[in-house]
Amino acid sequence: MESRPVGIMFHRLHKRGEKPSGQGSIDEDMFEQILLKIGIRNILQPDEWRLKLEAGHLKNSDVCLTFDDGLETHFSIASPILKKYSLKAFFFIYTKIFENQSDTNEVASYLLAKKFSSFKDYFFQFKNFFNISKSEYLNPNFLSMKEDYEIRFPFYSFEDIFYRFWRNNHLRDSDFDSFISYLLDLFKVEPNKIFSEIWISEGQLKKLSNEGHTIGLHSHTHPYSMGKMNREFQNFEYSKNLNLISKLIGKKPDTVAHPLGSYNHETLDILKKMEIKLGFRSDNTMPVSSTLELPRIDGAVLLKEVK
Ligand SMILES: [Zn+2]
Repeated sequence: MESRPVGIMFHRLHKRGEKPSGQGSIDEDMFEQILLKIGIRNILQPDEWRLKLEAGHLKNSDVCLTFDDGLETHFSIASPILKKYSLKAFFFIYTKIFENQSDTNEVASYLLAKKFSSFKDYFFQFKNFFNISKSEYLNPNFLSMKEDYEIRFPFYSFEDIFYRFWRNNHLRDSDFDSFISYLLDLFKVEPNKIFSEIWISEGQLKKLSNEGHTIGLHSHTHPYSMGKMNREFQNFEYSKNLNLISKLIGKKPDTVAHPLGSYNHETLDILKKMEIKLGFRSDNTMPVSSTLELPRIDGAVLLKEVK
């Protein structure tokens, strides 16, 4: 299917019959179809993937499965299906959720799924809140991002791409936070009450680890662009992430997925000093230059091939 061995990445999942939690969200049936389409025998267990990679024996048809962001649905929806086929996967976890700090972006996705009938409706609120004029749709930076995204994420709509463009380039974290607070107020949702619906608990994480899945790093707070941060910040992000996960699962992680695919040479140096052996990007565009920069493709893209 792919021209080289890749990790398959999964993010958002939803229960069959419920509303998708964002574009590219898949339900348990779609998840199972994707696994069958890949072919169960082509899916390597994390340890097997590592040994074959280190020995230079990975075949082009070999894949491994990865889940980012420690979402509750990874435990409740994906892990039972993995169990059905005796598969193990990588789970990359950011740890601020275990200090009761939520991630605004994920809360946004929750509200989007539960409180809006479509992304268009949500985008309408977003556009009004920030007073964005339609002339911005012709912004050259947006147009070039759009071209790139249409290839990498064919399941994103125009609004999806513009929303990401605006959020990532024009808003400070605090601006986006105030938009989400506005929505929480509007819908009278208490942030503390939705926490366990969105994120995996400490107990669930331990269970995944005990069942033989591989738990890996994904930074402490999941910054938007790790690769632009100074060394001290990056070191804090990964040290804290490493310490908290080690404490929770009782062993030291040695794998990582770069949050939003962002890193620089300092990141790689920090990770090497922490004895991290495997790292995954969020795309499949670069030649493989080290075992800390392995390619991945989005599972939701494979769904297009399933149908
Ligand atoms: Zn992530």
